[in-house]
Amino acid sequence: MIETKELLHEALKTHFGFDKFKGQQEQIIQSVLDHKDTFVIMPTGGGKSLCYQLPAIMMEGTAIVISPLIALMKNQVDSIRGYSQNDDVASFLNSSLNKSQMKKVKEDITAGKTKLLFIAPETLTKDENLAFFKEVNISFVAVDEAHCISEWGHDFRPEYRRIRLMIDEINKEIPIIALTATATPKVRTDIVKNLNMRSVREFVSSFNRENLYYEVRPKNKKEQTFKSIVQVIKGMDGQSGIIYVQSRKSTEEIAKVLRVNGIKAAAYHAGLDAKTRTKVQDDFLMEQIDVICATIAFGMGIDKPDVRFVIHYDIPKSIENYYQETGRAGRDGLEGRCITYYRYKDILKLEKFLRDKPVAEREMGAQLLQEIMAFSETASCRRRFLLHYFGEEYVEAKCGEKCDNCKHPKERIEVQEYLHQALSAIQVLNENFKIKSISEFLIGNETKEMQDFKFDELDLFGVGKDKDLNFWKSLLRQALLQNMIYKDIENYGILRLTEKGKQFISKPVPFQMALNHDYSTLVDSDSESSKAGTLDKVLIGMLKDLRKQVSQEKKVPPYVIFQDPSLADMATQYPITMDEMANITGVSIGKAKRYAKPFIELIHQYVEENNIERPTDFVVKQVANRSKIKVNIIQSIDRKIPLEDIASSNNLSMEELMEELDAIIISGTKVSLDYYIEDNIDENATEDILDYFMESETDSVEEAFKELKEDDITIDEIQLVRIKFLSDTAN
Ligand SMILES: [Zn+2]
Repeated sequence: MIETKELLHEALKTHFGFDKFKGQQEQIIQSVLDHKDTFVIMPTGGGKSLCYQLPAIMMEGTAIVISPLIALMKNQVDSIRGYSQNDDVASFLNSSLNKSQMKKVKEDITAGKTKLLFIAPETLTKDENLAFFKEVNISFVAVDEAHCISEWGHDFRPEYRRIRLMIDEINKEIPIIALTATATPKVRTDIVKNLNMRSVREFVSSFNRENLYYEVRPKNKKEQTFKSIVQVIKGMDGQSGIIYVQSRKSTEEIAKVLRVNGIKAAAYHAGLDAKTRTKVQDDFLMEQIDVICATIAFGMGIDKPDVRFVIHYDIPKSIENYYQETGRAGRDGLEGRCITYYRYKDILKLEKFLRDKPVAEREMGAQLLQEIMAFSETASCRRRFLLHYFGEEYVEAKCGEKCDNCKHPKERIEVQEYLHQALSAIQVLNENFKIKSISEFLIGNETKEMQDFKFDELDLFGVGKDKDLNFWKSLLRQALLQNMIYKDIENYGILRLTEKGKQFISKPVPFQMALNHDYSTLVDSDSESSKAGTLDKVLIGMLKDLRKQVSQEKKVPPYVIFQDPSLADMATQYPITMDEMANITGVSIGKAKRYAKPFIELIHQYVEENNIERPTDFVVKQVANRSKIKVNIIQSIDRKIPLEDIASSNNLSMEELMEELDAIIISGTKVSLDYYIEDNIDENATEDILDYFMESETDSVEEAFKELKEDDITIDEIQLVRIKFLSDTAN
């Protein structure tokens, strides 16, 4: 069936209401209408689905659409039905249907009503279904998310590799259209070969997402990284974003930190029950939640065009994954920020998982990791790197301001001599050691290993001691990336020389290295580390003196003024305003008002006289992790559970719960009791109590009760509203 241009446009207008096609859609649709095998490579947001939907509606018979996710099928079907007057125009066939529903689907197909049938590869392979398809008119088969076919793709599904066999079973003449949003040349060849596509017409759209900004930041200690993430998100004020992490535990942890810092965030991972997952997705779409902290399970079924940022807390396993996940930002064509936190140690962690895999998979995995590591550590344009990876020419050397390396170019230094020393060391040590040992050898670290093997007696031992350990490690990683050496994963990552490396040793050539961020931080992120910043010992001495002085004036013991942890926090954070003071551990707003003035003056003066650089403007509030109960309470309040229930589920009396809440607030965590107060306390009473605390010199409940009891206000009410007051004003 050959359609004229006019007819095609008319069909587009009639069936989908659009005036014109996007990109290559028209040529692709024409190819399908011509019964040609067609291969479509189009980045997310390019209008892929129309490429099979329109021809399916225009052609005789039913098109089979093979789709990987049952959860997605319903949305796809709903969306097509939304354009049509008849529900039977599109259906799906999967395990979620009962017998009579299945029968109805098949009847509609036989009657020629259904134009598109969505099906998972597993359902397609069933004998009774194959037999059925042989009897009806199939217009073509569309293989959506075709990268699932390839072992090189980011979510390989073995069932996908049998699709060709199934189609041949039905009818060898059926044309195929395969579609994917991400494909390296490797994946591309794999798909065409596996589907045995004949004289295939390929349509490759550009993979350049001009509206995305790519950035890789060094990943430091956990707290610092969390702080950096909070800052990024606070700077984007209420916009939608996704944070990808590798472990379920981290999704929960980061979501918690974000919530504590006033960001509407939720975790999403495969360990949650289906109901919760659906709710999180819906809340994200409805903007009840701004930020999702997810494992890679999130995003396949999400079509939210205005995701403004995608953060990778952990490095993805491959560039395909990275591209796919960052691709969820800015689908509406407006700005999208893609920030990745990277340290070399995370690559090592992923490598460890590979060790027990079969050889082929291990080698593949190692190569994918090598590539994502190269992307992370490159000092050149990241956009150019990505596009080259996908086999696309990017003629400009730089993308301007749209990646960190173009925006802030890094200095390069000549390291030919150092590289020669490093490679020679590998050779001298018989290509039998890992990055760490080689680096230690070069700087002349007298470790037990060096002594045991008598390496410290070799000429090259300590030859590179004018540079530090990190320099050598990062030089060795550069050598890895430049193919001078390779890592033997099977043998626990020992370094071996490549031909190129051996050549370099005998005939060195200039070799430049960018002075990178230090991506190699050795700090164990899992260890419980202290807050950012260090204690100023001089200042804490001065603060203690001042406290003594004030305590004598006020005739109260020093601890009543401020306790030691508060002083220590002051000598770390240098608070110079009332607001900042109220964020100090153990300092309530009442306490700040009462005692902080001379302390603020002292700190202010000290900071100016000594040119102190204070920690960043705001301090990220940490989740109270000392007590599970506290976390529990905070979470329950987030979920608006009645306080009585929270108390009983944590085995607390209401009084104890109030004490816990007090401690939570004073440690700087914000909680919102509004839901409970609105239900339980008269609005006027709440107003009166809030007014009282606003004017009062003290936050004492007893004092307040003395003042307010005439107005028929109870001590319980005062307690609750006081917590609201402290939370709203102090935190
Ligand atoms: Zn660039």
